[in-house]
Amino acid sequence: MTARILVVDDIPANVKLLEARLLAEYFDVLTAEDGFKALDIVANTHVDIILLDIMMPGMDGFEVCERLKSDPKTSHIPVIMVTALDQPTDRVRGLKAGADDFLTKPVNDLQLVSRVKSLVRLKTLSDELRIRAETARNIGFEDYLRMDNLDAAGQVLLIDGRASSQERIIKGLKPVAEVTALSDPQAGVFEAAENPFDLVIISGNGEDYDPLRLCSQLRSLERTRFLPLLLVTETGDEEMIVRALDLGVNDYIVRPLDPNELVARTLTQIKRKRFNDRLRSSVRQTIELAVTDGLTGLNNRRYLDNHLKTLFNRAAARGRPLSVCITDIDRFKQVNDTYGHDIGDEVLKEFARRIRATVRGADLACRYGGEEFVLVMPDTDSVSAAAIAERLRSMIESVPFQLPGTGHSLTITASIGLASNSGAIDTPEQLMKHADRALYQAKNSGRNRVVASAA
Ligand code: GH3
Ligand code: MG
Ligand code: MG
Repeated sequence: MTARILVVDDIPANVKLLEARLLAEYFDVLTAEDGFKALDIVANTHVDIILLDIMMPGMDGFEVCERLKSDPKTSHIPVIMVTALDQPTDRVRGLKAGADDFLTKPVNDLQLVSRVKSLVRLKTLSDELRIRAETARNIGFEDYLRMDNLDAAGQVLLIDGRASSQERIIKGLKPVAEVTALSDPQAGVFEAAENPFDLVIISGNGEDYDPLRLCSQLRSLERTRFLPLLLVTETGDEEMIVRALDLGVNDYIVRPLDPNELVARTLTQIKRKRFNDRLRSSVRQTIELAVTDGLTGLNNRRYLDNHLKTLFNRAAARGRPLSVCITDIDRFKQVNDTYGHDIGDEVLKEFARRIRATVRGADLACRYGGEEFVLVMPDTDSVSAAAIAERLRSMIESVPFQLPGTGHSLTITASIGLASNSGAIDTPEQLMKHADRALYQAKNSGRNRVVASAA
């Protein structure tokens, strides 16, 4: 997971410290010494997360945060306020200004990294949602991705063995969530699997159960696998926190609980769940729309032409790799001529199934026309793309296609042309052209092979 973090602080030593820690985690770090510079950077470059000091000359952190959150172009960027431990009122003001999370000085390493990662994950989801909404708008489906209902009260399941602690958490979350509290961990797992919760909060104070076991159970069950988990731990229990984060717990909060921090962490996780759900339902809705190929269920060319533009520009803006492959079935006309058009259709459907089985969630698979398919792979360089294309080619060739109703099976092969965004390629059209030329070479040099464009 990599992201670009902007660190804003007027004291150079603070900046250096945070920068060094973030660089050690391979984040890309930008720095600003005051609010004006910070706003300037955000207006002119792509930034994923902002770590914002409060006390700064000229414009303080609250004002910077307010400005960022009131501008639609920057309001989606998560802001972590860096507050002094002895200034709890700062947190309230920070929340009012729209801050997404807090860190207290001196900043603890583990907290810094887990907070940043948690917000990077959230931002990845919300970015994906936003670009899908943009594509929907571009193709004229204004309200297909409605962003409403994201702020409705969250449904939280609290598993906590102590009644007093339960009460405190329920009270703290009252403004933002409805909390169902249980003391028994097994009842909790059952409840989490059976009901549509947005978040499970697990209290780590139970002498009678192991909170880590509970976390790992929830992570391994099909129905709770994607449910955000927030762990409440005792001060100094760093070993447990590290293990919990390894197990896939999304975030943690340390006692004594600061209600503002509890609210901020809870809201982040609830949003994450909602974005996830929305993304999933957007996939469903996409299929219901006219951007789907009726025969194979893959996206059609119309969708590809629009969405590739968005993906291409986003990759260019972030300096990230992007690859496309065009796949064309070899001698497909012969299948039609020998077995008939209906059998040809069945082969196309099975071909599409195999493509779908090859791709990751973020990849875009389309039927480009006839017996040509296009795969767009964000964040994938030419080396990885070549490996994926080769895997696809071999998956097609190695298992013969069953021809329904004939009792026959047939070995099908495909030729694949590959291109990646690079210095020489400036537009999505050029990218497609290069992939197409590579495909032509693959056909000419004997078919059933992958050829990558030299550009
Ligand atoms: P090459 O290896 O050069 O790609 O040879 P090919 O036969 O696959 O290529 P060609 O472009 O000559 O023929 C493609 C065939 O795909 C012709 C067309 O009838 C068939 N085709 C296109 N769309 C469909 C479809 O939806 N269903 C069926 N059954 N066939 C289709
Ligand atoms: Mg300062
Ligand atoms: Mg063909």
